[in-house]
Amino acid sequence: MSQQDLMTKIVSLCKRRGFVFQSSEIYGGLKSSYDYGPLGVELKRNISAEWWRSMVTERENIVGLDASIVMHPRVWQTSGHVAGFSDPLVDCFNCKERFRADKAPKAEPGSEVTYKEGGKKKGAELKGTVTEKGYICPVCGSPHFSEERQFNGMFKTSLGPVDPLDKFLKDIEGKDLPYTELKTKMEEAIASSAVYLRPETAQAMFVQFANIQQSSSLKVPFGIAQQGKSFRNEIVVEHFIFRSCEFEQMEMEFFVEPGTQAKWLDYWKDARLNWYRSYANNPEKFVLRKHDDDELAHYADDCYDVEYEYPWGFDELEGVASRTDYDLKRHSEATGAKLSYFDPNKEDPETKKNGWRYTPYVIEPAAGLTRSLLAFLLDAYSEEKGVDKNGKEKTRVVLKLHHRLAPIKVAVLPLMKKDGHPEKAREIIAKIRKAGINASYDDTQAIGKRYAKHDEIGTPFCVTVDGQTMEDGSVTIRDRDTTEQTRLSEDKVIELLVQKLNT
Ligand code: ATP
Repeated sequence: MSQQDLMTKIVSLCKRRGFVFQSSEIYGGLKSSYDYGPLGVELKRNISAEWWRSMVTERENIVGLDASIVMHPRVWQTSGHVAGFSDPLVDCFNCKERFRADKAPKAEPGSEVTYKEGGKKKGAELKGTVTEKGYICPVCGSPHFSEERQFNGMFKTSLGPVDPLDKFLKDIEGKDLPYTELKTKMEEAIASSAVYLRPETAQAMFVQFANIQQSSSLKVPFGIAQQGKSFRNEIVVEHFIFRSCEFEQMEMEFFVEPGTQAKWLDYWKDARLNWYRSYANNPEKFVLRKHDDDELAHYADDCYDVEYEYPWGFDELEGVASRTDYDLKRHSEATGAKLSYFDPNKEDPETKKNGWRYTPYVIEPAAGLTRSLLAFLLDAYSEEKGVDKNGKEKTRVVLKLHHRLAPIKVAVLPLMKKDGHPEKAREIIAKIRKAGINASYDDTQAIGKRYAKHDEIGTPFCVTVDGQTMEDGSVTIRDRDTTEQTRLSEDKVIELLVQKLNT
């Protein structure tokens, strides 16, 4: 199976089995918007629950936050997003594709490249010289494109019952104003009520630093974790849910003493890499990549990406950045709020007196929940070739999702739709559900087809009620990965499931 095939198969499985649908599909869909169906929502919740467990529940010094998506607009001015959260936008003169210059394929300045006219397969072959920019169009390979324009990736909207454009139109009615004045007035009207959909969850954790530190009496080092939706008006949306305009993040800001950031970055980069690997079938496909100096954001002193080997190659899954004291200092300067920490037991390095007030440094592991979901699906997909009982070749599609991530943990299947099998199966599933285990009742097709369906959606176990169950109360339990079936008393099912699902 080629890597391209794998991606096509995942997208198709997602739709067919109800993991991910295109948003507003019956209206033709909306670019890069996706809806998570019955299985997708379970998988997404399981990934976020595992992240929360490992980042918050299992730790003494990390607490949670669930902040507003729409924050005071000054937050984004202070953070630098209004002025600087932009990507360089370029239009290709040959195929008209609009793309991000910083993500375009690199080429040696001055070298000659060939490409097809209009980007069409049958177009005439053209030659061109790579400019000093050092990149070519990602679609047609041409080196001829427009100047780079900065495009701000934040979604802007307005808060309050007054439409800023209505107000603007009333203000200028009957006035014969020159273009530049009109433009300024319009921008002022829009700015008066402008707010933004957050492009990351991180800023709220800096803005609420003092409230959280004081209300929870936290001592450095400590962390604040948050999960939720973020929005970016991406120039190019790509690879299904890998890059979309609306997505979910799982971020944590870990506040440390100045001077200890390198040690903590080291700790968190490994912790985060190992987190992914612990759920993976192919752990070697999850790797760390250190940022080159020219890649570092201006506020960061070091950064690693956790990358995954997607079908198109290694690409980002999570950023683990050492963000210095930049954010807390900026918000403190902008508002006058004291976003610092006092350690009574430390000597102030400047005054040499006991007691040190400082602005903590920050390590930020910033993960994408929806992007992780794609990586875990790709990692879990497998096809096993075999022969059926008639000697015919067949392919078993298995989604080998980690037990803790699997949307449905167990399917309870009556072998037949008669002889008391359905009633018994419903009795068993009721007990399983009561134990808090997500289970599915299924009596739709022949038993082999039902096993195949549950293999394909990653259900780790199938419990089957058959004739023998009615005689001695025993059921079979089938393991998704080995397809082995063992018989056990129905009373032991929950105990076994709890034991298996917790490993
Ligand atoms: P990229 O380089 O892929 O644009 P980024 O470096 O801008 O990502 P961060 O700002 O570090 O991303 O965001 C942290 C994480 O949020 C990313 O590693 C990714 O998992 C996720 N993420 C960011 N942008 C998107 C998006 N448009 N769609 C889906 N997930 C995203």
